[in-house]
Amino acid sequence: MERKKKDIRALTKDQLRDFFVDQGDKAFRGNQVYEWLWQKSAHSFDAMTNISKETRSMLEEHFVINHIKVDQMQRSSDGTIKNAVRLHDGLVVESVLIPTETRTTACVSSQVGCSLDCRFCATARLKRMRNLNPDEIYDQVVAIDNESRLYFNRPLSNIVFMGMGEPLMNYNNVLNAIEKITSPEGLGMSPKRIVVSTSGVPKMIKRMADEKVKFGLAVSLHSAIDEVRTSIMPFNATFPLKDLREALEYWYAQTKSRITYEYVVWSGINDTKEAVDALVKFCKFAPSKVNIIEYNPIDDGEFQQASAKAVEMYQNILEQNGITVTVRRSRGKDIDAACGQLANKQ
Ligand code: SAH
Repeated sequence: MERKKKDIRALTKDQLRDFFVDQGDKAFRGNQVYEWLWQKSAHSFDAMTNISKETRSMLEEHFVINHIKVDQMQRSSDGTIKNAVRLHDGLVVESVLIPTETRTTACVSSQVGCSLDCRFCATARLKRMRNLNPDEIYDQVVAIDNESRLYFNRPLSNIVFMGMGEPLMNYNNVLNAIEKITSPEGLGMSPKRIVVSTSGVPKMIKRMADEKVKFGLAVSLHSAIDEVRTSIMPFNATFPLKDLREALEYWYAQTKSRITYEYVVWSGINDTKEAVDALVKFCKFAPSKVNIIEYNPIDDGEFQQASAKAVEMYQNILEQNGITVTVRRSRGKDIDAACGQLANKQ
């Protein structure tokens, strides 16, 4: 009976080295294979040309390389590309390539579906099926890097964890993937070009702070008033702003890295002076900046983008208080690739 083969990318480098020693080979062979897997992104053992044929077939007997498959690629009129990514068990997630004049940003998913219940987000309507493995996150990055080279003649420059799922609810795998993406034995990208975006899980923000991570942190704030935030992001009842604030102060104390707040202004929800004042106050707890993002309608019109005047009010008051604010236009809206629109619709 054929035993179930293990996914070789679930092994650490040390485990790979040990495996070769157990096979009567040199530990160093483990380093070579590790490099093929994580630096050269090999899809098959046959691609590992500096490994002997016998060793390659021996690996084939023991392991598989579970690789993602880009099932469908859609291109927006603004150049944005959305990939529907099929995982080895048939589930699908989406990732997005966002080109600007000078950069290519990959927006990657960390979970299949999402367990949070933000009322304005399409992904929240999908059940959380499972966490992504480190290799599944890594593969999304490699796929977008290839597309960037192919269509824009340049490598991928930035990564944001703003696709499907809550990265801090898949903490270990997300950090493991970032390690593979940034390590010189992996893709060697700078952690300064990576941003992890969270709805705000205080315990996990503190853990990242303790680990002195080198990537950036973005928090989807949307309101600095508990009652309002809970009404649009119900999990705020479990992780109230007081706890979030305390975690963010701790984050800054440990990392000295400025926090980005993502913020959508909706009419009738947070388009008041009171809401802006609360945000200004919240921004003063730790050095931060605000990204105002456009609302991308997801369906029934329950939420509506606030007026340009309300957005201007935010901009003016934040600036008067010395807080950096940028107003972002959405990208890839025509293919449902913009923030909050990822829902495997195709
Ligand atoms: N769970 C993480 C990662 C998702 S990031 C997080 O919450 O940060 C996706 C970003 O898009 C978040 O800032 C989210 O609040 C925002 N978003 C969700 N739905 C949106 C919508 N319909 N329009 C605009 N932004 C949306």
